[in-house]
Amino acid sequence: MKSILFLFIPLAALAAYFSLQSSDNINSVNKVMQDSTNKIQDKNMPDKVIKSEEEWEKILTPEEYHVLREKGTERAFTGKYDHHFEKGVYKCAACGYELFSSEHKYDSGCGWPAYWTTLAGDRVILREDRSFGMIRTEVLCARCESHLGHVFDDGPEPTGQRYCINSVSLKFEPAEE
Ligand code: FE
Repeated sequence: MKSILFLFIPLAALAAYFSLQSSDNINSVNKVMQDSTNKIQDKNMPDKVIKSEEEWEKILTPEEYHVLREKGTERAFTGKYDHHFEKGVYKCAACGYELFSSEHKYDSGCGWPAYWTTLAGDRVILREDRSFGMIRTEVLCARCESHLGHVFDDGPEPTGQRYCINSVSLKFEPAEE
């Protein structure tokens, strides 16, 4: 009887070991599938607009260049879209990509144009920003990676988000009547 037990215990240990191995394999298969899904999502991203800083400097005004390419911030309550509530779409001032809708714009009182969401699809890239001793989430154009502003968690329902965007980073296009 003892000898059977001696045989059984190592066998059970081996079986447990191999089942762990196969769950690791499943995890790695899942990881590969996840990675390929991410790649498919990448394909749905807009065609990137890639320019050198010299090229951007030629296209943009000095103020636009400072905000969009050097992550500057326009002074609060001075931007042309802070209190602008016409119907239409707000595009990236650097590459023209449609980013925000007047339907999602609201008066947050913060001094910059505020939206509670972006247009549907991959419109922006969010990136952690630890500048100026704060931890904020930077918002960049998904197509040209120009700086737009920051997003905060103190917005209205239904998202609770406040996309706080520089007017300089936007170009408004009115809706057709
Ligand atoms: Fe852009």
